Amino acid sequence: MTDAPDLGFSTRAIHAGQAFEPRTGAVIPPIFMTSTFVQDGVGGFRDGYEYSRGGNPSRDALQQQLASLEAGTHAYTFGSGLAAEDAILRAVLQPGDHVLMGNDVYGGTHRLVSQIHARWGIEITTADASDLDAVRAAMQPNTRILWVETPSNPLMKVADIPGLVELGHAAGAMVVADNTFATPYLQQPLVLGADVVIHSTTKYIGGHSDLVGGAVVTSDADLAERIAFQQFAVGAVNSPFDAWLTSRSLKTLSVRVERHCRNAQAVAESLVGHPALTAVHYPGLPDHPQHELASRQMRGFGGMVSMQLAGGREAALTLVQRTRLFQLAESLGGIESLVCYPTEMTHASVQGTELAVPDDLLRLSVGLEDADDLVEDLRQALDSL
Ligand SMILES: *Cc1c(COP(=O)(O)O)cnc(C)c1O
Repeated sequence: MTDAPDLGFSTRAIHAGQAFEPRTGAVIPPIFMTSTFVQDGVGGFRDGYEYSRGGNPSRDALQQQLASLEAGTHAYTFGSGLAAEDAILRAVLQPGDHVLMGNDVYGGTHRLVSQIHARWGIEITTADASDLDAVRAAMQPNTRILWVETPSNPLMKVADIPGLVELGHAAGAMVVADNTFATPYLQQPLVLGADVVIHSTTKYIGGHSDLVGGAVVTSDADLAERIAFQQFAVGAVNSPFDAWLTSRSLKTLSVRVERHCRNAQAVAESLVGHPALTAVHYPGLPDHPQHELASRQMRGFGGMVSMQLAGGREAALTLVQRTRLFQLAESLGGIESLVCYPTEMTHASVQGTELAVPDDLLRLSVGLEDADDLVEDLRQALDSL
């Protein structure tokens, strides 16, 4: 009842999978910090629980909540976003299969396939996912997975999910959408036709920079069974404590993301036209190349902004030393604002490949501080260059 699809997003975020504890009435489900469960005679499992790699009530509560928010039927959570990605890739692919990825996906995603799965006979190529003709031309007869990340990292390109689904399905490929940047509050790829959604829950879903985790969500029952088996057999699960923390964070996702969007819009608008910058990338700016598409496909434009500096790499490296509120760190999606130099941080693993990012680029994760303070912080740092 509490995850009925006709309930609103925020209602489901707070109630789906989050039944109160029946013995005491504790309104918040407890953290089931246990590895194993007593059996009432051999095979007499209580509520199906046997061993926490296979199932744990704290993880199940999160999985139900996430499935509901992504409008899927099944969700599986993992110890990191990359562990979740590995699970879906291995659940689907066989040696000889090809994966087509957007050419500005998260660097670690490309590395996972090109440096790990390639050794088991998986092929990978990339294409500009914001260009449907380029993607169509790059599809191969053995393409099993079309992998899209939108908005993309760090260039904030927006890909047409229904368009990619149409051409992917026509070619017999499954469409996997990395929804980490958008979150289910802004965009629900399964509703737009994608087969699978993956998340680094480390980012907006965790939202407080205090955990690492990942998730796979789908409505395909056969595929769900294979992912469940993969999760159990490989064991890259998140801990009950991390699952509980993630559930707690999901309850405020809509409130947080609305503020992230508002602050990012204010920051992006304040940066436009600054003489120290040559470009500002944010889908909420009217001159962003996919602004119309983003307006159609997303409920808001997200909390990530990137910018290119007139002074190149040197100016970028100086700027990150001069901001006071934007702290220099990897990762994103937390309450605090962060700045990162992708070329040598998040995207260091793809330097020298077709996924390399411009070396004059800085990426901002706009946090939940007061927008005026964030705008002023960037202004003083840019003016000092
Ligand atoms: C961080 C990130 C990942 C990887 O997730 P981890 O939790 O760091 O393993 C995948 N995709 C995107 C878009 C990310 O930002």
